[in-house]
Amino acid sequence: MLGHKKQSCKYFCSTCFEENKRGENSIGNMDETKKSEYRTTQFYQRDAESGSFGVKMGSGPLLKNVSVKNYLPGMLHLITGVFNKYVFEPLWQHVMKIDNDTDFIIFRDMKRTVKEAEMKIEATKKNAEENEKPEEREVIELELGMLHQQLCRLNEIVTGCEGTVWKKLEDAWESLGASRKAFFQNYTGNHVKLLLSQKGVDVTRNVLQNTRSPKIEAILESMEQLHTVMHLSRNKLLEDTEIEEFDAAITKFVSFLKCSLPSDSVTVKLHTLVFHSRDVLRDQLTLGRLSEQGIEATHALFNRLERRFVSFRCKRTRYKQVLQELLCNKPAAQSCAAADAAYWRLRRHILFFYVPLFLIHLYALCFGKISVLCGSVGSALEYKS
Ligand SMILES: [Zn+2]
Ligand SMILES: [Zn+2]
Repeated sequence: MLGHKKQSCKYFCSTCFEENKRGENSIGNMDETKKSEYRTTQFYQRDAESGSFGVKMGSGPLLKNVSVKNYLPGMLHLITGVFNKYVFEPLWQHVMKIDNDTDFIIFRDMKRTVKEAEMKIEATKKNAEENEKPEEREVIELELGMLHQQLCRLNEIVTGCEGTVWKKLEDAWESLGASRKAFFQNYTGNHVKLLLSQKGVDVTRNVLQNTRSPKIEAILESMEQLHTVMHLSRNKLLEDTEIEEFDAAITKFVSFLKCSLPSDSVTVKLHTLVFHSRDVLRDQLTLGRLSEQGIEATHALFNRLERRFVSFRCKRTRYKQVLQELLCNKPAAQSCAAADAAYWRLRRHILFFYVPLFLIHLYALCFGKISVLCGSVGSALEYKS
C-alpha cells in the first residue's frame, strides 16, 4: 500500500527513517528514547522518485491523504510476532537445556537443532568409513551407534516427551486451548491471545517455578508485560491511566528483554511495537481500531451487494454500483457506530480513520476484480496482505 520494500531493506521501518545497521541492531543497543524521524506521504512520494530509503522506485502511497501512522500493522500481528521470537523461542531453548540429556547442542530453532545433530552423525559416519585402521574404525562405529540412539532421544525431547518440563508446559498451554498443529510450527494470533491472558502467564509461571534461572525469570517477566500490552490493545478507548499503563508496560518489556536477550536483533515488529505503538495510542486513544480486522464484516456486505447488482452485465458498471453503495450509504460508519457507543466521541477521526481504512480494505477485498476498474493503480501498487 505504501510502496515500501519491507523488512529486508536497510531502512526497514515503513513508519520512520530508522536505519537497520548490520551488527549494531541489537536489543542491548536499543535506545527507546531515540526516535528516528517519522515518514510522511510527502516523503514517500519524494523517495519513490529516486527509489531511496527503502521505497520502491516509481511506487508510493496509494492513498495520499492517509497519514503514514495509520498504516501501522495490527497489534495482534505485532504481538504475535514478538511473542514467538522473544518469548516462545528462547523459552523453548532454555527449557530444552534442562530437558536435554544427550550430547547434542540445542539451538534456538528446533529444525536447526535436529539438522545439526544429523550432520554430526553424517560426519562421524564418514570418519568411520575413511579410517583405515580396523581397531580405530571399531571405536568410531561404536560411537556412531551411541549417537544414533541419542538422536532418537533428541527427537523425543525437542517435541516434548513424557516427564520433560517442555511436555508439562505444552500440556498447560493446551489446557488453555492453545495447541499447535505441528511441533515445528509457531503459535498463531489466536493462540497467542490465549497464552498472553492472565491465566496463560500464571500457568507458565507455575510450570517453570522449580526450574527458574535468571534468564527464564526475565523471559517470564517480559511475557507478563506483553500480557498488559495485549490487554490494552483491545477494541476500546483507553483512559489516561490506561495509556500510562501501556507506556510503562512497553518500557518494562524493553528492560526485561535487555536482560533476557541482549544480543538478539531487533525485528521490524519489535521496533514498531516499541517506537510507534505508543505514539499512535496517544493520537488515537486506542490501538483496537488500528487494523482492518474490525471491518472484516465488509466481506459479507460486499458479496451481498455484488449479488444485488448482478443484473449489471458489465463488470465495470457492476463494481461501480457496489462501490457507490458502500461509500455513499456509509455501511462501515454505521456498523461501527452501532458496535461502539464511543463512535461520537471519535467522530472527528472518522474522516481520517475509517474512510481511508475502509478504502484500503475495499481495495484489498476486490483487488482481483476491481483491477478492471483501476487497472493503472493496481499495476503500480501490488497489494500484499
Ligand atoms: Zn520506525
Ligand atoms: Zn479482509
